[in-house]
Amino acid sequence: MFERKKVTAVVIVLSAASMFALAGDGFVFKCQNKECGFRPTIIFGGGMLFEQAMGWCHQCKAFRTVQWSRPGSPNINPGAKPIPQPKPLAEVWVPAIGQTRRIYKCPKCEGSFMEIRKPEELCCCPKCSKPGFKVDPNAPRLAVD
Ligand SMILES: [Zn+2]
Ligand SMILES: [Zn+2]
Repeated sequence: MFERKKVTAVVIVLSAASMFALAGDGFVFKCQNKECGFRPTIIFGGGMLFEQAMGWCHQCKAFRTVQWSRPGSPNINPGAKPIPQPKPLAEVWVPAIGQTRRIYKCPKCEGSFMEIRKPEELCCCPKCSKPGFKVDPNAPRLAVD
């Protein structure tokens, strides 16, 4: 009986750890400006098989994502060719966060976007430009594989 309990505990710990290591994180954001109310679901980071860069395209007014195969990821579809990482248009130092970020071409238009890596990097609503663009505390957090 004791042995069985021990095994169960190990399995739970392992699966929780692999979720954090492999999955992307999704959050529902909400603009606090009542006239705007923009409420998108935003995915940060990649999944088990892919990596991604995500940002706001100011030209097509939407969050856009480019994805590529995670190097050394398990190949569940042997016929599929790995997708190479797209070459960024530029890499810039961002004064507000004191770190460098890459700029990628938007996959849907001729515009471009700067990658956003963490929820804390978003403070102003991309639609109305007002501050108070935050994770909706009432919405569930998503793990993406
Ligand atoms: Zn675009
Ligand atoms: Zn807004």
